[in-house]
Amino acid sequence: MPKPLEMAERLRKLPPYLFAEIDKKKREARARGADLIDMGIGDPDLPTPPHVIEALKRGAENPASHRYPDYEGLLAFRAAVCDWYKRRFGVSLNPETEALTLIGSKEGTAHMPLAWVNPGDAVLVPDPGYPVYAAGTWFADGEVHFMPLRRQNGFLPDLDAVPADVARRAKLMYLNYPNNPTAAVASGEFFAKVVRFAREHDIIVCHDAMYSELRFEGYRPPSFLETPGAMEVGVEFHSLSKTYSMTGWRIGFCVGNAKYLAGLGKIKTNVDSGVFQAVQEAGIAALNGPQDIPEQYRKIYQERRDVVVAGLKALGWEVDVPKAAFFVWAPVPKGLDSRTFASRLLEEVGCVVTPGVGFGPSGEGFYRVALTIDAKRLAEAMERLKGLKL
Ligand SMILES: *Cc1c(COP(=O)(O)O)cnc(C)c1O
Repeated sequence: MPKPLEMAERLRKLPPYLFAEIDKKKREARARGADLIDMGIGDPDLPTPPHVIEALKRGAENPASHRYPDYEGLLAFRAAVCDWYKRRFGVSLNPETEALTLIGSKEGTAHMPLAWVNPGDAVLVPDPGYPVYAAGTWFADGEVHFMPLRRQNGFLPDLDAVPADVARRAKLMYLNYPNNPTAAVASGEFFAKVVRFAREHDIIVCHDAMYSELRFEGYRPPSFLETPGAMEVGVEFHSLSKTYSMTGWRIGFCVGNAKYLAGLGKIKTNVDSGVFQAVQEAGIAALNGPQDIPEQYRKIYQERRDVVVAGLKALGWEVDVPKAAFFVWAPVPKGLDSRTFASRLLEEVGCVVTPGVGFGPSGEGFYRVALTIDAKRLAEAMERLKGLKL
């Protein structure tokens, strides 16, 4: 008898892909020739700044780039990261031990539990949230404990609601502010609470600060590492993907507590061989170079945000004005569930939004609009919504 070749149990722990239904409807609508306005994509449409592309070209011409890069990343890239942290957040970091180059922050976020979680350990994960936090935990045979993010709490988790036995078993906690999908932001006061909680229960905080630079009207999201005591309890994931429109380039970094980073680094030396050196050189150009393009991009996203917020308000739909990130997260009108709402938008007016439940059960009752298409198209979408009879 041949043995049945089943996929590993850990893959069967993954929830069904909740966007499959929307993806299928999108394909069908496009096949019918529908002109869809897709506000579902969390990937910047604006181009990478030209001086960054030039640096990649120069790096690619250099034969030294053609060999295996250093595992932990070019020291010059890590130094550029640390200088940037100092300038932007006033946080001092040692590039040798407190910064690690990642193949995009997704990679590091997913690998962190492999370094720190044993079977039966709990990991605290926001719901709704970026799905990689839970997937990385399951792959390490950890137990995911979802922390609901509720609108009445400003989409911050209620740490006091974590059951005592879960807090005792918890090894890691993921947080993400400015937040995907809710666009909520966290204050230094909240982060101080997180530090106290992490100290009390010996938990490693993994803060995903991906959207800290997509900020509006002078609002400056803080780094978790600015919080007194944060360096003792945690790390921060970051990347060039969203700030510099470099999602395809695959370069990110993790900074913070040297011991926690060393664990992640040990996993990485055994599974990957780092980031193409020319891409790291381009990353240095992005971080050290002129910041006028990201500033222009912030204005563009802000203009788009204003079109969507005004459009939804004109319909009489509820919406909070985001201070950061490139999403609008709003309650589904008329008490519809989020999947029904998203399907009806797609089928009746050709507008694609992401149903909140796709980011976790507590996302039910909300939908996400991504500001990754131009303002004119967004304005057209807002016009189309007027034709929807809910
Ligand atoms: C886009 C995104 C990422 C992925 O970033 P990469 O650096 O491109 O891997 C991570 N976290 C959140 C919350 C994101 O939205």
